[in-house]
Amino acid sequence: MKLSQSFVKTVKTTPGDEVSESAKLLLRAGYIYKEMAGVYDFLPLGMRTLDKIIQVIREEINAIGGQEMRMTTLQPKDNWVASGRWDDDVMDVWFKTKLNAGGELGLGCTHEEAFTHLMKTYISSYKDLPVYAYQFQTKFRNELRAKSGIMRTREFMMKDLYSFSKNREEHEEFYEKCAATYKKIFDRLGIGNDTFRTFASGGSFSKFSDEFQTICEVGEDIIYLDREKGIAINEEVYNDEVIAELGLDKSKLEQHKAAEVGNIFTLGFKYSDALDLTYNDADGKRQKVFMGSYGIGPSRVMGVIAEKLSDKDGLVWPEEIAPYKYYVIGIGEQGEKIANELHEADPENVILDDRKNARNGEKFADADLMGIPYRVVISDKTLAENKLELKTRATGETELLTIEEFKNKLS
Ligand code: ATP
Ligand code: MG
Repeated sequence: MKLSQSFVKTVKTTPGDEVSESAKLLLRAGYIYKEMAGVYDFLPLGMRTLDKIIQVIREEINAIGGQEMRMTTLQPKDNWVASGRWDDDVMDVWFKTKLNAGGELGLGCTHEEAFTHLMKTYISSYKDLPVYAYQFQTKFRNELRAKSGIMRTREFMMKDLYSFSKNREEHEEFYEKCAATYKKIFDRLGIGNDTFRTFASGGSFSKFSDEFQTICEVGEDIIYLDREKGIAINEEVYNDEVIAELGLDKSKLEQHKAAEVGNIFTLGFKYSDALDLTYNDADGKRQKVFMGSYGIGPSRVMGVIAEKLSDKDGLVWPEEIAPYKYYVIGIGEQGEKIANELHEADPENVILDDRKNARNGEKFADADLMGIPYRVVISDKTLAENKLELKTRATGETELLTIEEFKNKLS
């Protein structure tokens, strides 16, 4: 990416109604653009980071047998009537509309009904099970309050996986596998140390659900954390009985504000009952499919990471999800020439700040604001030793490398 050709520019001020640090920084650094409250565009840098977060999730979910697909956003009314969730009193976040040709439809806010209905075509025998199907998809929710930039929006990205198992035992095996995979995902995304499996309210088929909560000042939940055991209880189910049931010691629990980045639910027969999803077991007897659902919000995760890992100078992305790895600035004729070469050598990893109308100080500030992991400066001063300066964004440490040494780092 060459900054001289980028239509997006960093800005100094942000809309007055943005209060969270992550929203301000993402807007200033040119990652997102605000259409209206709770609705944001992802600009080129923002889209790259979101896509990288998605890719980490994809790799880990594929590794446990997830099959990726994509469902439609337009949702037929019938499936939702069958499950009892079409009514606005039951599901208060619906965006619905009328078809010109007659009839109603909704914009998908979640996809239990859609996946269950679809699987009726593909699941008929015990030999067809288990199935783990998932998608990355834009969800629409008429949230009463949009909050904290991309952390709670009315249009957002969700990874939703649905498991279809023969029985509870088979379900629970995958459930635990997925919980372990979530841990891996949040580790890779750089928030593993502050993200905890949290007991939260369940449903008709399990006493609890599992949330993955990241400690975060602008989070909307309160959790009680046993740091040693690495598990927490959501305020909504926090009481003496639950503490005892989980074998925790009340005096050791820390209270924190947290943001829910993912969750896992045992759905049991709730949707297979409603939509009549069954299979024939080995004895030819009809059985109901046992289901679970597994969500992560990649766009909320991006907001949480921006919120937690930023500093006074701007964003600080972990390497794996930074839009680019190196921010290269050439100073002076020779420096600019080498900077160009470095960009050409690896345009996928290098942002070249070749703006003619920006002073060096502005370039340094923008490198920090954008949170690119490494800033590379090539100037007459460094070239006197045939070297360049490499600064690590997260630590502020600098080192001098020869041009050759640095080129070897590029792919
Ligand atoms: P919350 O309690 O925060 O409203 P939820 O219980 O509605 O979340 P799910 O419906 O299970 O969450 O969605 C799965 C994941 O999608 C959540 O864990 C979260 O990461 C993300 N998510 C949910 N609502 C939003 C939203 N309005 N904006 C951005 N991400 C969201
Ligand atoms: Mg919600």
